[in-house]
Amino acid sequence: MLIGGVATGMDGFSQYSALVEASDEPPATLQKILSWIIALISGLVLLGWITGQRALMSVIDGFPTMKANTAIGFLMISIGLVCPHTRRAVSRLQIAGLLLAILMLATLSQYLTGYSLGVDEWLIADPYSTELPGRPSPATAVTFIVLALTMMTASLPLPGGFRAFMLLLSASIPLTVLGVYLLDPADVQSSDFFSTVALHTALLFLLSTAALTLRLYPQHRAADAGASVGRRQFERLLFPVLMGPLALGVVVYNLMVSGALSPGLAMGLYIAAFSVVVLGALIWNSAQESLWYRRIADEEREREATYRKLSSMMDIVRGGMIYLAADGSVRESNRRAAAMFGVGPDEFRAVNISRFVPDEWRERFERVLARMTSDRQLRHYRHRMFRLTLQRKNGQRFTVLCSVGPVAEPSGSVMGVLLVNAESIEQQMRQLKREVRIDHLTSAGTRASLEARLNELESYGSRGDGHVGLIMLDIDHFKAINDRFGHLAGDQILADFARRVDDSLRYTDTLYRYGGEEFVVVVVGATEGSLERLAERIRRKIADQAFHWQDERIAVTCSLGVTYHREGESYVTALERVDTGLYAAKEEGRNCVRLL
Ligand code: GH3
Ligand code: MG
Ligand code: MG
Repeated sequence: MLIGGVATGMDGFSQYSALVEASDEPPATLQKILSWIIALISGLVLLGWITGQRALMSVIDGFPTMKANTAIGFLMISIGLVCPHTRRAVSRLQIAGLLLAILMLATLSQYLTGYSLGVDEWLIADPYSTELPGRPSPATAVTFIVLALTMMTASLPLPGGFRAFMLLLSASIPLTVLGVYLLDPADVQSSDFFSTVALHTALLFLLSTAALTLRLYPQHRAADAGASVGRRQFERLLFPVLMGPLALGVVVYNLMVSGALSPGLAMGLYIAAFSVVVLGALIWNSAQESLWYRRIADEEREREATYRKLSSMMDIVRGGMIYLAADGSVRESNRRAAAMFGVGPDEFRAVNISRFVPDEWRERFERVLARMTSDRQLRHYRHRMFRLTLQRKNGQRFTVLCSVGPVAEPSGSVMGVLLVNAESIEQQMRQLKREVRIDHLTSAGTRASLEARLNELESYGSRGDGHVGLIMLDIDHFKAINDRFGHLAGDQILADFARRVDDSLRYTDTLYRYGGEEFVVVVVGATEGSLERLAERIRRKIADQAFHWQDERIAVTCSLGVTYHREGESYVTALERVDTGLYAAKEEGRNCVRLL
């Protein structure tokens, strides 16, 4: 049996890390939010084109505008991304990717062939551009094509490297554009390739890449902790690796433009600083990873120590402890449990407990077990103890006292069972009962068993002919014997006295020690006068023959009260009367019998 959470045992490591990983997983809604932002901004741009609001088309006045087709491209991406995952062979993400690819391949082919397919202004005319109205830049078209291909292949079993490569590629062009905007915005127009990429186009590309990344690497599967280790490192490195070079570029570029650094020096400085930033990020990441693993290893060690401590405690318990699954299979046990059934601990762990139930009770046992292990039922059984007969591997039967209780375990309903060998307990109980019933010194029954016997007679009658009679005996001047010969002598005489009285009785008559040197005989089936005769016989048997203590001969007499139980009266009344009879015999000079 195992206790609580330790039950997972040694494979806790993977479960634990999966648990921790799951907690820093970005919520799936982040991807949705990004998609809605993309839809909103591109929708606004499109609105700008429809209503002629130039401010909506370009963020910075005088700089390139986001073309209507570009905005449509972004809308396609966002529509593909907000749709939920489906099991259908072709998802909406793939359809959106396909449409986007067609539009942008057409755009790109116009650049390459110089031939107009008429796609530039198929929806909205561009009154502002002079050179190629309505046509997105080659950089925009290429980035869209990369994103479209990534979307179209989203559900294909491609190697992970391909996906990562495509996503990096889709980020590289907008990052370059952003860098140029940050360094010298005027330079954007100096390149044919980038010339018409607007600032918000670059930003939306980055958001699209981020949203697509979240879509393609959605969740950490609990069973696959390795994937989330990568995710953790990625998240840690993303900011320094992305922002470090950008910030450095701005500084070094400005130093170069202002003439403080020659282009060669500036590039050298940039390369060195870039390497330092990236290396620093790598070192920081490794240090963090080491800390992470050390912490997990510590926790695991602690867990193992607890596990070992608990199992050695379980082995100390003087009983079998078993941890049972609902179907009766043994999950864990202490050594004593296995020993009780006569099997080794490993063998025991692989069996079903019902194998140790004798054939004739097995079916019933399995039924009861199934009922008990249902969660609610188990609580009822918690405070009860069962007596079960089981059999060892060699067929030898034994009885156990068994208590059960629910044990929390993540994998379902299980119960802890404690088995104690009933034979040893019952033997002890029998011994205890004997001690309560039999007086040690005289081997007569105790006062408690006299009371039990009288209660029994009261309830069921004597079940025989004749009356029930009581004789009460008290040794005369016993105090004087004690005083003269000592207590040991007194004890010896008490024991001899009881034996002598008992020898005079039939096996149906019983002798009880009522008090110090006072005894009661219960006679069943007594006939008229038989009780007095028995009492007289006892009196003589005591008085006629002296007792012995060491070399001393000690004369002992006793007084006796006698009474017959009367129809309808309680035995307490009869007992009181016989006591009075004894008192009367004492009064009359002792060593005599008095009937009342
Ligand atoms: P009588 O009954 O004749 O009136 O006189 P008695 O001396 O027997 O009177 P009493 O009942 O007062 O004294 C009983 C004595 O029995 C007192 C006690 O010391 C002694 N006694 C009781 N139980 C034991 C015992 O287990 N062992 C010994 N050695 N003495 C006992
Ligand atoms: Mg006495
Ligand atoms: Mg007495």
